[in-house]
Amino acid sequence: MTTIKAAVCHEFGQPLTVEEVQLRAPQMGEIEVCLSAVAVCHSDISFAEGAWGGSLPAVYGHEAAGHITAVGAGVTGLVKGDPVVVTLIRACGTCPSCSEGKPTICGTPYDGTKGPLSTLDGGPLDQAMACGAFAEKVVVDQSQVVKISEDIPMEAASLIACGVITGIGAVVNAAQIRAGQDVVVIGAGGVGLNAIQGARIAGARRIVAVDMSEEKLEIAKEFGATDGILATDKKPFVQAHRAMGRGADAVIVTVGAIPAYDTAPRYLAPGGKVIMVGMPHSGEKSSYEPVILAAIGQGMQGSKMGDVVIKRDIPWMVDLYQQGRLKLDELISGRWSLDQINEAIADTKTGSAKRNVIIFNR
Ligand SMILES: [Zn+2]
Ligand SMILES: [Zn+2]
Repeated sequence: MTTIKAAVCHEFGQPLTVEEVQLRAPQMGEIEVCLSAVAVCHSDISFAEGAWGGSLPAVYGHEAAGHITAVGAGVTGLVKGDPVVVTLIRACGTCPSCSEGKPTICGTPYDGTKGPLSTLDGGPLDQAMACGAFAEKVVVDQSQVVKISEDIPMEAASLIACGVITGIGAVVNAAQIRAGQDVVVIGAGGVGLNAIQGARIAGARRIVAVDMSEEKLEIAKEFGATDGILATDKKPFVQAHRAMGRGADAVIVTVGAIPAYDTAPRYLAPGGKVIMVGMPHSGEKSSYEPVILAAIGQGMQGSKMGDVVIKRDIPWMVDLYQQGRLKLDELISGRWSLDQINEAIADTKTGSAKRNVIIFNR
């Protein structure tokens, strides 16, 4: 057991408490990582607000990077000292989804309350999203970790763990956009900007950003959007058709807002598909007209974590960053200490397009 500092949620909707907790040593197939950086993601905020349920007390945080400090038995290809990205994609490797090469939808459940964390007095403490990375150290399964190059800054690397793979993967893996196709990205926040740069990397012709904020549309253009349309305008999908000269081959919905889902199919070209990435609160419903989708071969498809295979996709993203083709530093809007986590969360909630990162100073 090690005593570490972590930001704990004791009650939904209340500020997190930075306190000492216990972390047990890595067991079979597990790795201990001392974190250098963890970004604040909107999913952490939704969980902390109680939008998706879950046990309390809990430690959130799932977008992290650091160095391996210990490995359990049966770990292969990773050793103490390796720089790594830590993700929430825990994959058993043997269920039907994993066997088909789809680790992001692994069917083996994980109970974080039986994980490596406990309160100082030995009580249960949920390792939320199989990570619990709002903490100085994590113990995670080896499937969640990818070794990366030594020379990428840790704060940039941390972003790859969630927002970057989710956005780029939605375009490249889920929509399978190829050069010359047209893409609409609804929401130019952390995931949206990465969907936009994913479309740029994939060679899309028109990349249309749709957002409620003029300021975010400007930032979207820096990441590769060719056009920006205000979601608050009357019939933004008509304007998008005008900009593209046709409908989109893919519409990537990166926000959890129901109106965005309701209108998303209206941006499509015949044969196009909506990629559903943004996560509304549990129980919320969207409606669409099935006859239109059926008549012109359109589709709607969910995409979890960009459908990535982390050991395949994260190293190429690191490489693109090092070549100057993937923007990561530009995604960071603020740097905070763990003690300032509630301020970092409050800043993220203001709707800033970019990421706030907790930096661990040693
Ligand atoms: Zn996330
Ligand atoms: Zn599995």
